[in-house]
Amino acid sequence: MADPAAMSLKQLANDAGAYEFDKSTLYAARSGKLKEVKSLMQLANDAGASTVAQSGKLKGVIRIFDTTLRDGEQSPGATMTTEEKIQVAHQLVRLNVDTIEAGFPAASPGDLLAVREIARTTRGNDVAIAGLARASVSDIDAAWEAVCDAERPVIHVFLATSDIHLKHKFNIDREEALQRVKNMVRYARNLCSTIEFSAEDATRSDWDYLCRIFETAIASGATTINVPDTVGYTSPQEYEALFNYLRNRVPGIEDVVLSAHCHNDLGMATANTLAAIKAGARQVEVTINGLGERAGNTAMEEVVMALRTRPDYFGNITTRIDTQEFLATSRMVSRLTGIPVQPNKAIVGENAFAHEAEIQQEGMLKNPLTYEIMTPQSIGWSNRKLVMGKHSGRHGLDARLRQLGHKLDADQLKVAYSRFIALANEKKHITDAELLYIVESGKETPAAV
Ligand SMILES: [Zn+2]
Repeated sequence: MADPAAMSLKQLANDAGAYEFDKSTLYAARSGKLKEVKSLMQLANDAGASTVAQSGKLKGVIRIFDTTLRDGEQSPGATMTTEEKIQVAHQLVRLNVDTIEAGFPAASPGDLLAVREIARTTRGNDVAIAGLARASVSDIDAAWEAVCDAERPVIHVFLATSDIHLKHKFNIDREEALQRVKNMVRYARNLCSTIEFSAEDATRSDWDYLCRIFETAIASGATTINVPDTVGYTSPQEYEALFNYLRNRVPGIEDVVLSAHCHNDLGMATANTLAAIKAGARQVEVTINGLGERAGNTAMEEVVMALRTRPDYFGNITTRIDTQEFLATSRMVSRLTGIPVQPNKAIVGENAFAHEAEIQQEGMLKNPLTYEIMTPQSIGWSNRKLVMGKHSGRHGLDARLRQLGHKLDADQLKVAYSRFIALANEKKHITDAELLYIVESGKETPAAV
């Protein structure tokens, strides 16, 4: 693959978020068509690019790997039932994420079942379903059993690579860990064509050793390489430097998707994730509302809106996300986990677009751009002031419920609407809490708590 034309196509497709490369497609690219944008788009598409920009030239597209149902659900008190997880997964499809990490199947038979249900029932928008596995045969088998029915299954294998983890968690040395990566990634790749490998605690690992680990994982069949800041320890400049170091030194790294995964222990998860994108990461692992263990994971809505608001700075790097679904998704996750969103939370907090100070209100009335860098409508706040009463139609009820995180089918909407009208005849205005009660009491109560 030393041909420069093929290499540059590969790079373009990689920047565009391509998942895998078909070597015959790359060789076909040499036959004189490389300069034609149209055929490039087709080739990138054929090579598996998740999105090809419509504007006539390829842009960088970041793959959004949502781990709300795995890393997010691991946070204290965030446990969801299988039915609730399926609801979230279907909403994530509407949001248009690229991958849903549905859980950790080896954790318990219940977890395996939930991931399997999600893999079987989640369809549309080309979404991939990932299952997490430690680097062991039994974990990988469980993950495969859970995700094999998905349209695009992914096995996500991880092994810690910092000396502190190797010594205290596994009591193995660096060479044994390398051997384990080789054997387990190869084993997983024999089951599934898309394999992500994560070096847990990568940011506290020796950088040269990390290069050897990733080189081994790629040679053994990994298609995505993830560099987690598991303990929320790094800072933007350092994380960016690590990505550049890896890109310059790991053989074969240009053939895989490079991924960032950050935690917010020092409040830098979003900044670190954006720094990784600047340094070539083309997948980011994120959660809704920044849900996650301890101080949480990187918040999807923050990264996506930062890229969207500052194309001048990030260089036209985009995502496939339908940002108008953010509010509904945020409210649904908050409601199902019982974990509230802080009012001043960026993007989705109740006050994120509220301007109360007089000087700000004055400016806003003259021109919203004085204090607003993005519109509330772009996140889904469009009908916030919609008052619900007996003159509201079924369509209006549906729209408001969607903003509150409920997508009802026709029958459910019919039931909810008749209850709504009955209540609206008794009182003038119906609050959001009452709307939610109408919907939730009309549904079956989940079996488990
Ligand atoms: Zn994590």
